[in-house]
Amino acid sequence: MTELDAFLPPTPCVADDIIRCLQEARRLFVVNCESSLVLAQAALASAEQIQSNELKAQALLLIANSQSILQQTDQAITNFNAALELGKKLGQRKLQSACFDGLAFCYQAQRMTQQALQAWLNALQIAQLDDDVERYIHAYLGIANLYFQHDNFDQAFYYQTQALEWAQLHGDQDLQSKTQLHLAATLIKLKEYSFAEQLLMKTEDDLILPERLGWLAEINQYLGQMNMARQDWIRARAFYQAAYDLNLNTVSRWGQVQSLLGLGQLNARLNDFPQAERQLLQALELAEHMEDDHLRQNIHFELSALFEAKGDYIRATMHHIGFHNYYLRLLQQNRHDQLDALSSRRLNQAEIKLQLLRSELELKQLMQQRHQEHERMQQLESAAFHDALTGALNRHALDAQLPVLMQQIAQEGGSLCLIMIDFDHFKQVNDRYSHHIGDEVLKNGLHLLHALTRDTDLLARYGGEEFVLILPRVEPHVACKIAERMRQKIANFNWGSLAPELAVTISLGCAQWQHAMSAQMLFEAADAALYQAKHQGRNQVCLYSGEPHVD
Ligand code: GH3
Ligand code: MG
Ligand code: MG
Repeated sequence: MTELDAFLPPTPCVADDIIRCLQEARRLFVVNCESSLVLAQAALASAEQIQSNELKAQALLLIANSQSILQQTDQAITNFNAALELGKKLGQRKLQSACFDGLAFCYQAQRMTQQALQAWLNALQIAQLDDDVERYIHAYLGIANLYFQHDNFDQAFYYQTQALEWAQLHGDQDLQSKTQLHLAATLIKLKEYSFAEQLLMKTEDDLILPERLGWLAEINQYLGQMNMARQDWIRARAFYQAAYDLNLNTVSRWGQVQSLLGLGQLNARLNDFPQAERQLLQALELAEHMEDDHLRQNIHFELSALFEAKGDYIRATMHHIGFHNYYLRLLQQNRHDQLDALSSRRLNQAEIKLQLLRSELELKQLMQQRHQEHERMQQLESAAFHDALTGALNRHALDAQLPVLMQQIAQEGGSLCLIMIDFDHFKQVNDRYSHHIGDEVLKNGLHLLHALTRDTDLLARYGGEEFVLILPRVEPHVACKIAERMRQKIANFNWGSLAPELAVTISLGCAQWQHAMSAQMLFEAADAALYQAKHQGRNQVCLYSGEPHVD
């Protein structure tokens, strides 16, 4: 007989046996979810035999909670919904709101923001009926998590401090610890390290152990992150390692992936490539099992950077492609998310109350996503696709980036412009002043042009003495203004400081992307405008008018 067998209800079973089995499953839940799941499933089967809806609902809730922890999110959602139905039938509000909590977590794990928010909203509605402070706290922490997930840490902080006030009033130590843990994560993101550290230490002191070993793992993970940010490598390693050991202990796959990711990043920073590679690949393997796209995207990103640092460009590219595939897939999901929001049904009372919150969240979410994606892509480009002479992005980078930007703009319905920049009579510069001076002109020129771009623009060396500037979310008349500013900047620069009597000018051709255009067609349009600028005497800006040029 195994340890678990002792708690399985005998057949024919009675309600008392099932209750005992569920109690044991609940006890095991925080320390060993897999066993808890086995017991809860046995309890469900027995509850079905004796046709007790009440026990069935309890078992289903426990099964769903275990599956949620074990990352079996789809099954968890099905079971939460089944428990919810029973909860409604039985008129048990506590059960219903526990189901909504669980559903919200699952949706959040799947990055289905709208559904997650809706679930918190339903949970809040029920909490309002009973003035259930504990549920308020859970819902507020949940909403804060949504903000956190979208990098809006100020809002996350706001909801978490509200939750903490309630938790303190409520006097529940466990809930207070949980709230503090969430708050500490936000403080780290806000770079409030000493405050975060104090809070984590205090939380650690108050933890109920061994039940909360998982939280202890989280505390160590946060302390690892914080020390990594402070570049205290020794302490960072110790904390990450402790977190990893605790996560192994509590069989938390999610936690293990996080700690491995931390350790991998740390070792990569310290140039211990073999170790970093081993840890990141292990993290990837775990993440594959969990089918979490965001995690996989993050790990591919780290691996791509790692192999690049090692000079293994083939594998770097492989992981770059992996990263990119998940990026596109997530982009796709976001679109569905927005469509779901559009088709949402009539607003009820509580929805109206939180409507403001929702639109605020949606807007910020979109802005943050855009910002985040851009930062990420830029990081990737600058590491992988450099032009050796000028340090600008190269043509490969452009080929990889432009379709992504075009897709983004197509979704948003905004404008995107491309400017083709060519140095005038550059052959003469080389001939008259030497190739070396020619190179210096290109380097200085690029530097001058770069100073006039925004973070979200892409400036790349297209080849030879030709450069390309991509301007997302810019209308053609603004693109022309930017081009004109660039023209003047180059023409007015004191090139005499490089070589006596050296004068340099550029010609620029602008084109706006039309949604039916391929990248190739956009280049051709800008090229036609550039040709016109050259033809009309150089040192000028032309906008593509739709007319094909004739030689
Ligand atoms: P236009 O005004 O019509 O553009 O005349 P151009 O002389 O600039 O055009 P052309 O295409 O005939 O010549 C481009 C020259 O740029 C030829 C090539 O030697 C030079 N070039 C291309 N790449 C580099 C480089 O990396 N360094 C230097 N120094 N010169 C380069
Ligand atoms: Mg040229
Ligand atoms: Mg030229």
